[in-house]
Formats: sequence, C-alpha cells, structure tokens
Amino acid sequence: MPAPFDRPTTHHLPALRHLTVAGVARITPVFARVTLTGDDLDGFPATGPDDHVKVFFPDPATGEITVPSPHVPGADLETPRAEVLARDYTPRAFRPATRTRPATFDHPATEARSAELDVDILLHGAGVASTWAATARPGDPLVVGGPRVSKALPADATTVLLLGDESALPAIARWLEQLPAKTPISVLLEVTDARARSYFPDELRMRADILWLLREHGDGQLLAALRGLGPLDEGAFVFGAGEAAALVPLRQHLRKDLGLPATRVALNGYWKATA
Ligand SMILES: Cc1cc2nc3c(=O)[nH]c(=O)nc-3n(C[C@H](O)[C@H](O)[C@H](O)COP(=O)(O)OP(=O)(O)OC[C@H]3O[C@@H](n4cnc5c(N)ncnc54)[C@H](O)[C@@H]3O)c2cc1C
Repeated sequence: MPAPFDRPTTHHLPALRHLTVAGVARITPVFARVTLTGDDLDGFPATGPDDHVKVFFPDPATGEITVPSPHVPGADLETPRAEVLARDYTPRAFRPATRTRPATFDHPATEARSAELDVDILLHGAGVASTWAATARPGDPLVVGGPRVSKALPADATTVLLLGDESALPAIARWLEQLPAKTPISVLLEVTDARARSYFPDELRMRADILWLLREHGDGQLLAALRGLGPLDEGAFVFGAGEAAALVPLRQHLRKDLGLPATRVALNGYWKATA
C-alpha cells in the first residue's frame, strides 16, 4: 500500500533526442507552442503531471547545438567546447506515431503520422529559449534530453491546489488533464500579461476553480489569495511552480502556518529573477 500522498517514481533511461520543429503556434500572444518531431521520439516517456525535459538550444551566433559529452580523461586539455545552452521545459503533450490502418467494423481508418512532442515556451523577453522560440520555424533542429523521472499523481489526495506563474501553466495543464474527474481542483495564478488567461482550452478551464491575478495590481497577491483560502482540507495536496524567491513565502505559509507535511507540498522554483 502506498503511504498517504506518496508519488511513485519511475526512472527512465537517459536519452538525447535529435528532433526537428514541425510547427510553431502562438497559443496565446505570450506563449509559443513548438511541435517537435523525429524518429528519436519513439518510446518517449512522460507520464507524470510535472515531468520535465532538458531542451538544448542552438548558439544564436553559430546555430550549433552543443550537448553535454561524457567526461573523458584528458579531454580538458583539448580545445574548449562551445557552451551548452540548456533550459528545462514541461512536455506539454506527446502524440505517439500512428500507422496506416484500413477502416474495420469497430475502428475508423487511421493515417500514418509521425510522433509529435509539444513544448510551450513563454515569450518573456531576452533569454536563449524565449528568443529562439519567438523566431523558430519548421525545419529548425532542437535536442531534447529526458525526462529522467516521472512522478505519478499523489495517492489519496482528495482535493488539489495548483498555483504559480506563467512558467507553471504547461505543468498545471497536465495536472488538470490527469487528475481524476472526482477530485476538486483550485488554481491560483499570478501573471504579468492578461492575455496569458487564454492559455487553457475550455475543457481544462471548466475542470477547476481558477483565480487569475494580474501582477500590475500589486505585489504579494498570490500569497494573499493563498492565505485567504484558510486551512486546507486534510486530504489536500499542493503543487506550485514559478519564480524561486516568490515561492518562499508561499512555502512558509503552507509548511509553517498551515503545518502541511512535505509530502503534501510540491513547490518548485522554475526560474530565477536576475534583473
Ligand atoms: C521543471 C521545469 C519546467 C519548466 N517548464 C516550463 C514550461 O513548460 N514553459 C516555460 O515557458 N517555462 C518553463 N520553465 C521555466 C524556464 O525553464 C525558465 O523560464 C528559463 O529560464 C527560460 O530560459 P530563457 O533562456 O528564455 O531565459 P534565461 O536565459 O534563463 O533568463 C534570461 C532573463 O529572463 C528572465 N526569465 C527567465 N525565465 C523567465 C520567466 N519565466 N518569466 C520572466 N522572466 C524570466 C531571467 O530572470 C533573466 O533575467 C520550467 C522550468 C523548470 C525548472
């Protein structure tokens, strides 16, 4: 029997997948959905709601993608390699390859289709990933590593609270898709651009009670909204992601003020403000 709120973990074999951009769509004015394809996607495993992959981007000056190489003794003496430009992203959706199949009595015909992986990249401004995504085109190469682990949904969670900023939206969308229909879900989001609100398709928007907070209305709104919820249900589990420092008071409130054990709180720093 799994312990309460246990999240069984599956480890995956390391893999570097050399992929090609099949399409780029502005799913909101501030998010680019990059669809990647390639034979290396065979067997792509991403089963947990907050799985992540490491995306290796091309050097903007040379167009070359550098991936980490295994350490070879003496290699340090050779010409230094180019910088590895890697960022973490949520595999928003994966569609396995399909084969051509004629229609049968039970099934409609299917056409052959290559496997596809969607990654939703926030266009936040200057940054290797953000800048690349703003101008990415079909045919562009990209390398994706992982995911290394998948954590399943928490056993026994009777209600779930999801919170964060724009960077958390793809992971929160996966939570909304994967949680059982009977589990009540609340979502608290603080975003810079009101247009981020169109990120969720209708079927996900209807799945939860979602509160959107706009950063322009002042600091600390997410914390105030969280405090406003009062004590959480005994069976509540909390997932959140966003700017690392902004999560500190939220974690303190959940762990210290409300006394939730670590097994019921998963808050992850997805990026660090440097400006
Ligand atoms: C497990 C995990 C999953 C993630 N999933 C996603 C995802 O699915 N989609 C997504 O868009 N992001 C996601 N992120 C966040 C993403 O990896 C970071 O935002 C990353 O730093 C962006 O890289 P960059 O090259 O564009 O900017 P960087 O070169 O890293 O930073 C350049 C400048 O931009 C600022 N910056 C970086 N990220 C943001 C941001 N999100 N908002 C505002 N300013 C920022 C930095 O403070 C810095 O000043 C995830 C992170 C983790 C750890």
